Amino acid sequence: MIEIECPDCESIGKMSLAQTLYEGPYRCWKCRSLFQIVLANDKLQSIKPITEEELEAWQELQKLTRRDSGDD
Ligand SMILES: [Zn+2]
Repeated sequence: MIEIECPDCESIGKMSLAQTLYEGPYRCWKCRSLFQIVLANDKLQSIKPITEEELEAWQELQKLTRRDSGDD
């Protein structure tokens, strides 16, 4: 489990990873702030605030990426 401290309210959230590298959105369970985070080697490497619009854009991108890879 990787602990993620929310820069806004300092609440600790936890994430478990299937892969060693994760780059994507994180939403604080307490204050509902959105962040783009990078996790690597069981550590939080970067965390920066994003907007709902940026989250939606990221989700759209994931859909496209998944479709292109032909996995499903
Ligand atoms: Zn928070």
